[in-house]
Amino acid sequence: MRQNYRNLKVAVLGSGTVGSEVVHRLLTEREELGQRIGAELDVVGVAVRDTSKPRNQAIPAELLTTEADAVVTSADIVVELMGGIEPAKSLILRALESGADVITANKALLAAHGPELFDAAAKVGAQLYYEAAVAGAIPIIRPLRDSLAGDEVHRILGIVNGTTNFILDLMDTEGQSMEAALATATELGYAEADPTADVGGYDAQQKAALLAQLAFHTAIDVDEVGREGITEITLDQVRAAREAGYVIKLLAICERIGEGVSVRVHPTLVPREHPLAAVHGANNAVFVEAQGAGSLMFYGAGAGGPETASAVLGDIVSAARRHVAGGPGVAESTHADLPMVDPGLVPTRYQIALEVRDEPGVLAHIASVFSDAGVSVETLNQHAPPHPEQGDGLATLVIHTHQAPEANLAQTVANLAASEVVSEVSGVVRVEGA
Ligand code: NAP
Repeated sequence: MRQNYRNLKVAVLGSGTVGSEVVHRLLTEREELGQRIGAELDVVGVAVRDTSKPRNQAIPAELLTTEADAVVTSADIVVELMGGIEPAKSLILRALESGADVITANKALLAAHGPELFDAAAKVGAQLYYEAAVAGAIPIIRPLRDSLAGDEVHRILGIVNGTTNFILDLMDTEGQSMEAALATATELGYAEADPTADVGGYDAQQKAALLAQLAFHTAIDVDEVGREGITEITLDQVRAAREAGYVIKLLAICERIGEGVSVRVHPTLVPREHPLAAVHGANNAVFVEAQGAGSLMFYGAGAGGPETASAVLGDIVSAARRHVAGGPGVAESTHADLPMVDPGLVPTRYQIALEVRDEPGVLAHIASVFSDAGVSVETLNQHAPPHPEQGDGLATLVIHTHQAPEANLAQTVANLAASEVVSEVSGVVRVEGA
């Protein structure tokens, strides 16, 4: 232990799933952490809404307080684990203004107000750390910010929402319907009572913005990140994907395209042999393609109290070491300032499922709809009609396209839907990683 260095004061805002684990480890591993840092960490207060509430990990009563304002201005390091926008944002700004380094796991706040918070930190030479904000326990912020800082990232494909991966995985491996899989996820605590943030893709949208910002050194407006959730995905689509050698995943996709970037979240067909196809249950994974490093995959638990606390503790140790050693801390930059590519120009591939009239000439007509929009067909498979007993004279076609601009593919789908020989466009999913 470095001698003569004063103890560092740590305030924790929130003591729920993640916060109670963080406080527990700060208290029980004080000596070991002190050895790693070169100074001991004194927890000076843990702000909550209700001090009498039972907690996952017992917190000494004298540390619990409802006076969050008071603890943020009396600490060297403030750990924000409350979630939500306010009062988290005001408390972080107050902590930074008073010179404290801040650690947060709050992706919603960073995605909405990141630039303001980073500016406030830069003004006073304080640091804002957020390893736990994307993919829980998985180290991905540091690798993008530090380890790959000398490389050029071309593309990130991320499974960054455990709830949706759990649901899609149950549909794929056990043949459960979307409703049944969501009910299982809720029962097991993987889905919130209101699952909109997860199944609607909003949570992944916030994480995509944070990843793209780091990867491309460019400020990303979360509202410009394209978002589609998984609510429209049917078991038939999952089965069709399986038959064609794919699995459907909700992907956060961050891509360099020409002189711009594309950032989007949508359900995506991933080939079974791609490493992301092997990500099961509620796990997360981030697949990074970089100029020099090639392909890298970061895999592990995307949530959970002890798991997320691991990432938060890593940030606390980094911040504390900086206090002890002095000098600048982590550095990020948005100097590249790359423009967002028009979503219609983003090259992608589609799998399109159609119910068509089972008559001569129909295939030729369908092929012409594709070629008229400048889209080339890679494979076309005809499946048995879904309801042969009804004798409805329909056949199911599953078509995989070659890469084409998003706008041309969307136009093709609109033309197919309007065609007299098409009874229904029963599924459209984009394909990546092939
Ligand atoms: P949580 O279980 O809901 O805990 C929130 C804590 O903040 C509670 O202790 C609550 O106090 C306190 N709090 C909320 N509003 C407050 C206010 N206005 N004043 C004082 N205290 C307040 O949340 P969590 O799951 O630990 O998540 C914390 C953060 O980590 C969020 O930003 C979340 O997105 C992020 N995160 C969570 C996970 C995960 O697995 N849970 C994974 C990655 C990132 P009471 O206990 O008194 O109600």
